[in-house]
Amino acid sequence: TETPILKNMLDYEVEKGMIENKTTKRNLFDTKIINALMPRPSEVIKTFNEKYKNNKEEATDYYYKMSIASNYIRKDRTDKNIVWKTPTEYGDLDITINLSKPEKDPRDIAKAKLMKSTSYPKCLLCKQNEGFRGNINHPARQNHRIIPMEFAGENWFLQYSPYVYYNEHCIILNAKHTPMKIYRKTFENLLGFVEKLPHYFAGSNADLPIVGGSILSHDHYQGGHYTFAMEVAPIEETFEVKGYENTKVYRVKWPMSVIRLNGENKEEIIDLAEHILDKWKNYSDESVEILHETDGEPHNTITPIARMKNGKYELDLVLRNNRTNEAHPMGIFHPHS
Ligand SMILES: [Zn+2]
Repeated sequence: TETPILKNMLDYEVEKGMIENKTTKRNLFDTKIINALMPRPSEVIKTFNEKYKNNKEEATDYYYKMSIASNYIRKDRTDKNIVWKTPTEYGDLDITINLSKPEKDPRDIAKAKLMKSTSYPKCLLCKQNEGFRGNINHPARQNHRIIPMEFAGENWFLQYSPYVYYNEHCIILNAKHTPMKIYRKTFENLLGFVEKLPHYFAGSNADLPIVGGSILSHDHYQGGHYTFAMEVAPIEETFEVKGYENTKVYRVKWPMSVIRLNGENKEEIIDLAEHILDKWKNYSDESVEILHETDGEPHNTITPIARMKNGKYELDLVLRNNRTNEAHPMGIFHPHS
């Protein structure tokens, strides 16, 4: 579907035999039309940075609205998703029935990680997508604008997800096409990002297939202006970890194992997160099917989510294990029926 003005123009193109009447062709062509109206990347960056100096929320507000107005986020399509909240013992869970983006099979994602990309741009997250004209296998992105950001000593870009699942669903992508990895630097990067945009949260998908995201070949994070149920879920237990006394450690009441770190000392939180990651990576408990490796293949990793909370740093660490078995080929600990 297209906005009425674009639909009119596309119908005319089809009638005159200028394009084939297929969704992919129409999508490529409507993006080309929008491109004629788009500000240059440098102009978008300049406006964003000017607003950022004055008010950070104003900057993201401008950029988000532009990403919708440019039809980069095809709002008419994402509005078709069926979204509701359902009360549970863990809080009000957000449920989305996704009708706008095809979901991938976790087994295909695992295969894709091993595939060497020969296309240009290398993947859907590469910065080279900005302005790309597209083809049958790759969406047109002439209406796409990305914002350069520097944090934790590295170069990143901010963009929104074309398939927004929640308010201002953004993607933070590495300037380089480099694989997803959960390590100390990930915690530094996530906390560095939320320092830059304190009204946004930022999380990383895990770096192993089954429990990870749909693109493992390009390092990226997800963020946004939204409060998910896990952020406000009740605390079950409080801990103190020796040597990290400035950091509050909690266990969150959640269907998965979540450790929450909170404090003012960013370095200490990063140190403790790294310590927990190292311990978890080598942790096994056969009685509950957790094996940290089989045949040399690692299975344990973490899904981290960072946010600023009342001026303090907060980092949630979700412990993940990606083992599969015959009964659960999509993952023993992955949501399944
Ligand atoms: Zn890439």
